[in-house]
Parts: sequence; structure tokens; C-alpha cells
Amino acid sequence: MSTKNNAWEYADSIESASHINLRKQYGLYIDGKWVKPSSNKYFSSSNPHDEKHIADVSEANEDDVDRAVQAAAKAYKLWSKISAAERGKYIFRIARLMQEQARELAVIESLDSGKPIREARDIDIPLACNHFFYYAGWADKLEYAFPNQQKKPLGVAGQIIPWNFPLLMAAWKIAPALATGNTVVLKPAETTSLTALKLAEIIEASGIPSGVVNIVTGFGDTGAALVAHPKVSKIAFTGSTAVGKLIQKTIAGSNKKATLELGGKSANIIFDDAPIDQAVEGIINGIFFNQGHVCCAGSRLFVQENIAEKVIRKLKHRMQSLQVGNPLDKNTDIGAINSKEQLKIIQRYIDIGIKEGSEFFQTDCALPVQGYYCRPTLFVNVAQSSILAQEEIFGPVLTIQTFRTVDEVIQKANNSPYGLAAGVWTDKGSKIFNLTSKLKAGVVWANTYNKFDPSSPFGGYKESGFGREGGLHGLGAYLK
Ligand code: NAP
Ligand code: MG
Repeated sequence: MSTKNNAWEYADSIESASHINLRKQYGLYIDGKWVKPSSNKYFSSSNPHDEKHIADVSEANEDDVDRAVQAAAKAYKLWSKISAAERGKYIFRIARLMQEQARELAVIESLDSGKPIREARDIDIPLACNHFFYYAGWADKLEYAFPNQQKKPLGVAGQIIPWNFPLLMAAWKIAPALATGNTVVLKPAETTSLTALKLAEIIEASGIPSGVVNIVTGFGDTGAALVAHPKVSKIAFTGSTAVGKLIQKTIAGSNKKATLELGGKSANIIFDDAPIDQAVEGIINGIFFNQGHVCCAGSRLFVQENIAEKVIRKLKHRMQSLQVGNPLDKNTDIGAINSKEQLKIIQRYIDIGIKEGSEFFQTDCALPVQGYYCRPTLFVNVAQSSILAQEEIFGPVLTIQTFRTVDEVIQKANNSPYGLAAGVWTDKGSKIFNLTSKLKAGVVWANTYNKFDPSSPFGGYKESGFGREGGLHGLGAYLK
């Protein structure tokens, strides 16, 4: 374990995390002001590591959502008219302010979501800043992005995000919407509102006109009110396939545009000519990054039969070295499961797997006595028909299947209701090209996994949703 002499490196409690500055109670950020929720109801945001209360967060009802949308509609009249270069400057300023507060944002993200500080510090927060920088650059170049197309913004974008990458998902949503001249009402997930509220403070400090960005916190019904609001022209949703289907029903027959980024059950495929040690690292990163709370997690591993024994032996050995523990410890590899509910869901799937009789392996590391923790878990020789191989678990649980031929693995990998991502590990470029064209997945990584960049589009097929975020494609989704 690391030493406890530096709150940044190790903080047992919120009190000792001295770099952070949080309010006791957060209002809603509407029309450039912090306002009370009209119901006067607040809910607690807590730390999944020790179940301690962090801050009170406002519960927005339909009236509050209406106030936020009206403010965004009013601000749209101004924002869509100011020069594109000016819009870019505000977005750039937001990026710079985020960068200045990156350490604090990382600590808050780790505290509120349970993700390892190392991941928040090195991946989530820098990527979130980079999304703002990237889209700031596009703001005054839209005519080059879409030559001769006379593109126009859509209006008010209603944006709803999940709890696995809270600040990063806020950045994915807000940055391209602003760059294209839209205004925004964003609803974070109920268990992870705090970095979105810190972002609201940053947005306020950027001096961007009031009402251009509004942040309303709350539960599922807050999101539903945003989706149903008649003045919202575009819904950008990241979350579960079940809620994505509800949203589609609500907006059917309306003029609302939508992008839905939903669940996944992505295949990570290892051929016998792959560099095995690198592939094992890729398997670990694919499934255990962010406790497996990753929509594109490589949760179905396919290993070529003749190397399966070797790969599984090395994988188990590597898994034993993973540190599960306090997310704020910089040596932690696997942090806390985001909520008690999510831990129950994961545990239920593990119980199903054990009952089905697949070979089961869990590391024997010690877990913190309090909080929501799950050991890294494997199921070997899982049948294609098993619930474990079909449904998204959204936790540190990997299923392993074997294959003999290329055609067989393509058929098995595509045999899923989802189509978000895939990984291919091989020494042969021709095999990579063959698979990338035949796998029904929005993103295919070759000899790597879970790599993200603001310039590359992301999104799924089938029940993983539709529309693309990131890159040039991410701009198109906010224009007509
Ligand atoms: P979720 O239950 O669908 O929640 C996502 C967001 O929608 C939350 O802000 C939630 O609010 C809100 N919400 C809930 N019910 C709603 C409704 N009826 N109408 C409008 N909004 C509603 O998903 P989650 O459990 O937070 O996240 C896990 C899921 O997200 C996984 O399935 C994962 O694969 C998917 N995901 C996909 C991607 C991608 O890019 N494809 C990325 C990340 C996550 P509350 O928090 O208050 O419930
Ligand atoms: Mg929390």
C-alpha cells in the first residue's frame, strides 16, 4: 500500500482529500444562476468506498426542467448568432479552466464514482479537457467540415448521461453541441452528479452567456421530463438499452433528433499468432478498466483453442496481481462498484454463472471491509446460449469461449444483440482487415483495447444504439 502522507496520493476520507472544494448543498444551474429546486427536495451523493455522504444534490422536477429548457431556448437566440470564432473562444476557455482544476476534478470523480484515482487523473479528466479543446477548434471551421452544405444548429439539446464516466460523458455531450451553436440542458446520473456541478462552476467562470449551458440534477423522471419537453430539439443519451428504448417511444412521431449510446457485450478475440503477453494486458484492460463499468468493455473473450490453456493460465496469474481497494489510493487497479444496486446486479450474474456450472475463478485478494467491492472474476467454457455470454453485466466479470477458425469466431462474436465494440489480437494485418469488415461493431481495436480520442467517432449498431459521437461525425449529430 502507498504511504498516507499526501492527501492527493492517499485519502481515507473526504476530509483528508485536501485538494477539493465542494459545497455542502448544490442547487440547479439554470440560466447562469444557482437556484433551489422548486420541490425543495435534495438527495445525497455518497462515496461508494465508505458509503459516506459527500454533498446534497437538488432533485429537479418537471417545473425545474421547464425553467432550464426555457432558459436554453432564450439563450439559443443569442448563441446561435454570435460569431463562430467567439463560440470557440468560450469553449477553449472552459477547456483551460478544466485543465487548471484537473487534480480537484480527478479527486472528486474518484470519490463520487468509485473509479481509481489513477484512471480519473490519467484518462477521464485529460480526455474530458481534450474534448473541449478539440471541439473549440472546430467551432469556426464548420464550413470546411461540411462544405457547401449550409448546416444549421438544431436548437436546445437535452443531454442525459450515465455514472461510469461522469465528467467525460458531460464533455462528450456539451462540447460538440456548443461548437455547433446549440444550447444545452444536461442531466447527470443520480449517483455521480458532482463533477457535472463542478463543471457548471467552470462554465459560469468562463463567462459564457447565461442559459447556454444548464445542469439539472435528479432521477430518471428528471431525464424523462427533459426527453418529453416540446422545446427540446435533440436528445443525446448515453445509458442502458432499456431506457434508450423508452426514449425512442417518447420521441416517436416528434421532430426531435436523437443519438443513443447504449449497452454492449463486446468480443475481444485472441488468435494464436498474437503476442500473448500483450494480449493478456489487453484482456485485463478490456474487462477490468473502471471496474468493468464500461459500455464497450471486452466482456466476451474468444481465445483460439490451441493457445487457450496458456492464455488462461497467464491471465489468472496477472489477475492475482490486481489491487482492489480504496479508489483514492494511487496503487489501486480496481476501485469500488458505483452503487449497492450495481453490486447486487453483478453478484446476481456471478451466482447464475456458478449455478450454470461454468468453470469459475475469482482472485483471492482482500477486499475493504466496507463499501461496494467485487473481486476480478472469470468464467471459462461459457456456452454461447448462457445468460452470462448474452447479457451486459457491467462489472469485473469476464466470460471465456474458445474457437478454431476465423469464420467460427466471426459468427460467434456477431451472435449478440449488441454491436458496440470489438478487439482483435493477431500478428497478421490481413486477418485484422478481414475481421474489421465483418464484425458488426461500431469500434474495432486491433492489438489494443479501450483507446479513446476526441477525433475518433464512437457509437454502436443493433441494441447498442445509433448515431456517432466524437470526431467530425460528432458535429454532424448537432446540425441539420
Ligand atoms: P440508465 O439507467 O439508462 O441511466 C442513464 C441516465 O438516464 C441516467 O442519468 C438516468 O438517471 C437517466 N434515466 C433513467 N431513466 C430515465 C428515463 N425514463 N428517461 C430519461 N432518462 C432516464 O443507465 P446507467 O445504469 O446509468 O448506465 C449503465 C448503462 O449505460 C449500461 O447499460 C452501459 O452499457 C450504458 N452505457 C453506454 C455507453 C455508450 O457509449 N454506449 C456509455 C456508458 C454507459 P438516474 O441516474 O437518475 O437513473
Ligand atoms: Mg456517488
